[in-house]
Parts: sequence; C-alpha cells; structure tokens
Amino acid sequence: MTRTITSFINGAFVPAEGARLFDKRSPVDGRVMARVAEADAAQVDAAVQAARRAMAGEWGRMGTEKRCALMHAVADEITRRFDDFVAAEMADTGQPNHVMTHVFIPRGAANFKIFADVVKNVATESFRMETPDGRGALNYALRKPKGVIGVICPWNAPFLLMTWKLGPALACGNAVIVKPSEETPLTATLLGEVMNKVGVPAGVYNVLHGFGPGSAGEFITQHPGVDAITFTGETRTGTAIMKAAAEGVRDVSFELGGKNAGIVFADCDFDAAVDGIFRSAFLNTGQVCLGTERVYVERPIFERFRDALKAKAEAVRYGRPEDHHNTYGPLISREHQQKVLGYYRLAVEEGATVVTGGGIPDMPPELAEGCWVQPTLWTGLKDDARVVREEIFGPCCHLRPFDSEDEVVALANDTDYGLSTTLWTQNLARAHRMAERIDVGITWVNSWFLRDLRTPFGGSKHSGIGREGGVHSLEFYTETRNVCIKL
Ligand code: NDP
Repeated sequence: MTRTITSFINGAFVPAEGARLFDKRSPVDGRVMARVAEADAAQVDAAVQAARRAMAGEWGRMGTEKRCALMHAVADEITRRFDDFVAAEMADTGQPNHVMTHVFIPRGAANFKIFADVVKNVATESFRMETPDGRGALNYALRKPKGVIGVICPWNAPFLLMTWKLGPALACGNAVIVKPSEETPLTATLLGEVMNKVGVPAGVYNVLHGFGPGSAGEFITQHPGVDAITFTGETRTGTAIMKAAAEGVRDVSFELGGKNAGIVFADCDFDAAVDGIFRSAFLNTGQVCLGTERVYVERPIFERFRDALKAKAEAVRYGRPEDHHNTYGPLISREHQQKVLGYYRLAVEEGATVVTGGGIPDMPPELAEGCWVQPTLWTGLKDDARVVREEIFGPCCHLRPFDSEDEVVALANDTDYGLSTTLWTQNLARAHRMAERIDVGITWVNSWFLRDLRTPFGGSKHSGIGREGGVHSLEFYTETRNVCIKL
C-alpha cells in the first residue's frame, strides 16, 4: 500500500482524513512512492499557534545548556537512525548512496552540534561609558531568540539545507515552521520522530507539507505570527517572499540562485582541476546552487581540459541509488527534466557545439520513466547566450577559453548572480588577487564545496541576502538587546 505522509504540528502527525493529497513520485523510475497530505491555512495557523505557545512555555524558559544538550541529542539520534535518513533522502532525490552517506546526512546531523557549540561559546559585547557626574554607566548586550521562524526549503539537498537553518534557529531558542519542497517531504518528516524521541518540547519543530503559491509556503510567509523567514530557493521565489515579509516588517535571510564560474589557469594541477570541475558541474546531477555552469579555461590547456572533462562525463554510471556501483542519479522531477532538456535544445539553437551529452541516456525499461538526463558540455556559445547567463540547475556547463586575468575576472563578474567561484591555479599570489576581484560570497581555490561551518556563507547580488554560518547565523536568528546600567 502507498504510504501517506502528513504534517507534524505540536509534536504530533496530523491525521490525513479530509486532506487534499498529492503524489510524490520517485525520480528514479517515476512510480508513486508516497501520497502527501497538503497543509491548509487552518493547519498553518495551528502550527504557528503551537510554536508561539512553545516560545511562551518550557522552550522559551529553557536555559542555553539544556537547549544545546538537546541539539546534541538530536544529532546523536539522527546518527543512530543514519540508515533511515539515508534511505529517505535517496528515495526522495534518487541521488547515489555514497553522496548521502558521505556528505548530505552526516553534514546535516553535524549542523545541530556545530551551532549548539557556537551559541554556547560566543560572547556579546560590553562597553563602559563615562557620564558627566563621573559615575559612569555599563552597557552589555543580550541575545534573545527572534521568535517563530518560517523555514522554506528547496529540493536539491533537502536535509542538509534544512538543518543548516534549523541548527542555528533552534540552538538560539526559536521555534520553527518548516515547509519542505513538495518534491522532498521525507527527511523533514522523519526529523519530527527524532524531535519527539529526544524530548524537544511540542510546538518547537513543526513541518507543513504542500506547495508554494496558494499553499502552505505562501500561507507561512503571510502569517503575522511568523516573526522572520529564512528561505533557500530560486531568486524569483525570494522576491515573492520578500514582498510577503514586508507586511509586518519581518526579517528575511535568503540563499538564492547562482550562475557560478569555474576558472582554470594553465598552471593548475591538471588532474585535480579536471576532478574538481567535474564534481562542481555534475555532483547531485548538477542540482547544487554552488555548482559550476560556466567554465573558463586558459587557452594553452583548453582543448586538453575539454577532452579530459568529456571523458569523465561519459564514464558516469546511471542507475538506482542503492546500487553502490552507480555514480550518477536522475534529476528531481519530470518538470525539472523538461526544463533542463529545454536548455539543452536552446543551447543548440544558440549555436553551441555539443561536446558530449545533450539528451536522455538509454535506460533499461524499468528505469525509463525516471528523470534522467546526460551530463552535457558545450563550447562555442556567445557570452550573451541565455544558456551562459541563466541558471539551469542541471548537469551541464559551457567551456570557453580565456587569455588574461583581467579578461576572466570581467567574464566571471558579468552576471546578475554572485554566489560562488572555483579557481584552479598553483600561483597563490594570483589566487589571492583574483579572489578579491570576483563578486561572489565564496571563492574556492583548488577546491570546491569545502565548508567550514564557522565561516560566512551567502550570496551577493541576486544570489541572496545575509550571511549564515558560525556567529553570522546568530545575526539573523537572534535579536541583540542592549542593557545600559547607570553606575
Ligand atoms: P523554489 O524557489 O522553486 O522553491 C523553494 C521553496 O519555496 C519550495 O519549498 C517551494 O515550494 C517554496 N515556494 C515557492 N513559491 C513560494 C511562495 N510564493 N511563498 C512561499 N514559498 C514558496 O526553489 P527550488 O526548490 O526549485 O530549488 C532550486 C533553487 O534553489 C535554485 O535556484 C538554486 O540555485 C537555489 N538554491 C540556492 C542555494 C543557496 O545556498 N544559495 C542552495 C540550494 C539551492 P514548492 O516547491 O513545494 O512549490
């Protein structure tokens, strides 16, 4: 029998009776793997009220030590149920087992511990001031939770990106209303069981399933009882959410899209650069906000680099994620597959040379209904081609030669986005110089997706608002209050 997934409100799963149900299909073979109950406006309101009660009750009064110990318990329980989380995320996304076990699930669990430790150890500022009567005054700052946080999540790395927000939000003492993407409901649901098991009070963690516009996502962002909204997703969705947040002058933190450049100098460690760009373009079937869709290669090694990347792209192994030999999964949905294939057609119309890929791979009959696309490389497009300018969010990139630092900096910055860059060179003086000149939130040198969670993360330009990570997350998830004491 097909499983039904329901929302989690005030520490309990809501019965599915009477709810509108939608299908969750497997991206691997297209079969309906679950039915999901869509939360209506009344459920959104119930979740917000539960969260507010939690803030006014035990959770709001809980000391930092105890709250942070609970966050460690959440991480430990996720680790104890590691296989359940891996299986759930694999089922939702179709991505290979090794990516789940090595990256997405362990990093997701770690988010709860890291931010608990940050919250316990960060000092607030204090100033002694002089006054005309000579007695002086003492100022000190307090950090208080912001209240009820709306957490709106995408489908591409659902557990990792959700916990990246939940870790600091909960460690700081807020309550949350989470809306996972309708494509990936499972790990957020499983986390409800974890919260109950370790004793997080009812109402602190709520999950509402559904869609964006006219559904749970929009209802959350419009609800006046939600004090702030953290969102990861497309730039145009961010614009809609910002308009909703303007009502009530509520704070937002946005991680949005990217059209990231990879820059490869002729003096790079060639094999490491090929491996690095291969990962940054094709990990998670290219569905990574930090991924590379524009690759600039210094002319002397352009053809050799193109051929080496082509060989790697043609060697991926498609198949079910549970099979440990497979290295490459499908896209998330039929809709996204159609979007990516639309760009594959557009690239040809815009005059690209297709180096490899460009279509759907031959799959065995049992996987033919999955959302597969080939890893794809192009050359020969103009700098103003839509394929070079718009975020595709698929396993594809355009390669273009360059001749000088100035030229490649101008090319890299010629975009409305500003999320990340990966830069490959053995000349570190050049790397420092370039990193300062490229308008992005994060530049990786001779690496990619290497994250120290204490560091600021976020995008410039259309790629986001605010920074998260380490103490930077506290800027959004707490209000700083000043206390001034006349001595
Ligand atoms: P979307 O913007 O389509 O959706 C993100 C979430 O917002 C979903 O849960 C969606 O619901 C919800 N939503 C949509 N419309 C509204 C609305 N009007 N009000 C409230 N909620 C709404 O993004 P995707 O899920 O397609 O994710 C891919 C995008 O995320 C890419 O652009 C990628 O670059 C970006 N991203 C950015 C990252 C970063 O750190 N900068 C990291 C990862 C991804 P539903 O989908 O269920 O309708």
